[in-house]
Amino acid sequence: MSEYSQILENYRLEGRLRAIPAEAGTDVLDLSTNDYLGLSLRHDLTEEFMSQSLRIPFTSAASRLLASRQREYGELEDWLSAAYGKEALLFNSGYHANTGCVSALSGVKGTAIVADKLVHASIIDGIRLGKAPFRRFLHNDVGSLRRELEKASASAECVWVIVESVYSMDGDMAPLREIAALKASFPKMMLYVDEAHALGVFGAKGLGVCESLGLLPEIDVLIGTFGKACASMGAFAAASRELKDFLLNSARSFIFSTALPPVNVAFTHFMLRKIAGMEAERKHLAEISELFRRRLSALTGLPSVSSSQIVPLMAGGNARALELSESLSKHDILALPIRKPTVPAGTERIRFSLNASLQETDIDHVINVLSDAL
Ligand code: PMP
Repeated sequence: MSEYSQILENYRLEGRLRAIPAEAGTDVLDLSTNDYLGLSLRHDLTEEFMSQSLRIPFTSAASRLLASRQREYGELEDWLSAAYGKEALLFNSGYHANTGCVSALSGVKGTAIVADKLVHASIIDGIRLGKAPFRRFLHNDVGSLRRELEKASASAECVWVIVESVYSMDGDMAPLREIAALKASFPKMMLYVDEAHALGVFGAKGLGVCESLGLLPEIDVLIGTFGKACASMGAFAAASRELKDFLLNSARSFIFSTALPPVNVAFTHFMLRKIAGMEAERKHLAEISELFRRRLSALTGLPSVSSSQIVPLMAGGNARALELSESLSKHDILALPIRKPTVPAGTERIRFSLNASLQETDIDHVINVLSDAL
């Protein structure tokens, strides 16, 4: 058996062999995507956009720094800049944004990184690519963060604290007010917040949790991604002019990759303007999520860790997670098992990802199926 087959066999034996799921039928209740506002199904919006955008190219044909066409990128960056009160720089995806920004920041002499234990793989990969010393604090634990900040500040000139506003696998939120308040005691602290799962979902204009908490001025780098609630693709970093210029000159994922298609950038811009006015969808999603969390807790007898549209059901093992997902799929509910290494061993789960197109009857259906399966 080759080394590759041996590795695959080990994955299979551990119940964590991955495969791309079959395409879901149209009658499936899809609780697996990050399309939190249900906008990928809004053909009226796609048609409205397409009717206005016939002449926008499908390729940028170069990296931003070498491209001649900048109009769509500049228009979207200007919109983001006005909305967030910071400068904005587009990236090809959230993965590009985090690997590029974190590695660039951590390449600066005298920098240290302190990140939450559960930050996304793209942030971890950025840290690994960078050179800075790196510490992790216990998930959402401000006391643990303070201790790590004290240690990191002793030898560094600048300490970047990296968190997500809504965590992708637990659906819980960072205590951002308390975290931002630490800046008063730690003048070397800079704050980096990934809003991938909050953009479109929280805030009066859908800009994320930092908007809803009035914390935007406290954030030094804010990452948003367009492949989730915006039903598009790409990402941005919002920061000061100095940091934007630094990232533009240092983030290798920005410099050395062909830019997103202009048509895609124009679509993101179109969607963000629509999303700013989707208060009703945000309210409905918040209500339906609250209902689901409450009913799931009643069923399991356990409090929900989530306070968002992402709701985990802990399965306690790979095999059980797979089994639960299969039981749901027999009733045309698509909710996928999440296993190691995406989540730590022992916290394997079903990740329910709710969206604004769901109705109360859908929640009833899922809870009924789960009450038989659990
Ligand atoms: N940040 C977080 C918190 C994420 O969950 C993800 C993807 N799930 C990303 C970044 C990467 O974003 P993208 O899918 O646009 O590469």
